[in-house]
Amino acid sequence: MREVDLAEASRLLVAAWRIEDGVLHVTPSGADEPLLLRCACRRCHWIVETRTTGGTAVLHIRCHGCGRSADLRLAGGPAAG
Ligand SMILES: [Zn+2]
Repeated sequence: MREVDLAEASRLLVAAWRIEDGVLHVTPSGADEPLLLRCACRRCHWIVETRTTGGTAVLHIRCHGCGRSADLRLAGGPAAG
């Protein structure tokens, strides 16, 4: 499975996501395959929370290991359409 880091992931539009055993997989909009999100500290366990800010749905993620965090844009949020 291909991996993405936090910087790359924060530029993606996420169509789908899931957590398996604390490991976050995200499927970018238009992609067939999920990506494994790995932190710069090499861990891939994330605390995940969905938020809506200013009409935009985001997936707020924070690394269990080092506390780095990012907001990933979610496709199909309330602002869509
Ligand atoms: Zn980390």
